Amino acid sequence: MKRIAGALVFAALVLTGCSTVSLTTIPTVPAQVPAPGGAAAATAPGAPAAQNCGDLLASYRPLDPMPGPGQMPAGSTMAKIVQRGKLIVGVDQNTLNMGFRDPFTGQIQGFDIDMARAIAQALFGDPDAIQLHALTSDQRIPALQHGDVDLVVRTMTITCDRIKQVNFSSVYYEAQQRILVRKNSGITGSEQLGGKKVCATKGSTSLAPIQALPSKPATVAVADWTDCLVMLQQGQVDAVSTDDVILAGMAAQDRYTEVVGGSLGPQPYGIAIPLQNVDLVRFVNGVLDRVRTNGTWTASYEKWLGGLLPGATPAPPVPRYRS
Ligand code: GLU
Repeated sequence: MKRIAGALVFAALVLTGCSTVSLTTIPTVPAQVPAPGGAAAATAPGAPAAQNCGDLLASYRPLDPMPGPGQMPAGSTMAKIVQRGKLIVGVDQNTLNMGFRDPFTGQIQGFDIDMARAIAQALFGDPDAIQLHALTSDQRIPALQHGDVDLVVRTMTITCDRIKQVNFSSVYYEAQQRILVRKNSGITGSEQLGGKKVCATKGSTSLAPIQALPSKPATVAVADWTDCLVMLQQGQVDAVSTDDVILAGMAAQDRYTEVVGGSLGPQPYGIAIPLQNVDLVRFVNGVLDRVRTNGTWTASYEKWLGGLLPGATPAPPVPRYRS
């Protein structure tokens, strides 16, 4: 075999008239696979302290009666937004069918964006009276605390830690954390992640449950969820772990990947609002009540998520309010 290959190389050299370069001496250069900007090994934060934050998912009661569009109570957060002329909302632009930029139109669209537009509709009578501000997972709370945005509608889980820093609406979506792997990986669940690298975004709730797994995988933190998908495609990580709805979007973009294993924990989503703007929380909860009952929620689910997630369209989450 070696002789045949050598003869072929010789013949090739004679035919090309090249006598100085031997094909057999061309070195193999490994492909350079740079990690996405800011990607870093994430260190385990240690066991999270048991926290008692009461009924975490109970939000402020909706305003009753709800003011009509353009008729917000004087001095309210809503009146200030209406006076400004646009609702400013922090969203994702990387998560297919939740908040993503349509490459053909350049518009950010998805289930989260529909929720944000329903609030603009209720404030102004115009779903387009809105300015979308793209945020990474890690930028959500600072953007609210610095007053850069009025609301964040961005696959954001309500947690004990976060409710000390921002207010949340009632739950508008119930996700579950799972894992995404390459189809030929042989990984079928979180038990097989020992010695593997798992990607999640910095500032997300997805890192801690992976770091707490008995199989002790290494975690890699990046800025955006699409960075995790690229790292998985390039073999720089073995899995991505986050909410099922986000992973389903990645699996739809790359048919060589699949979601595997059971739930690593519930991820109830709320719309986040600065702590001091309780009036806006109550207004948003009134809008969400309408969205759940007037068919908007179901229509939006069917439009964006029906084809992505298995099973029938679920009922909208039942809201809980503080007594
Ligand atoms: N729902 C999780 C969170 O709020 C993960 C999703 C994300 O970061 O976008 O942290």
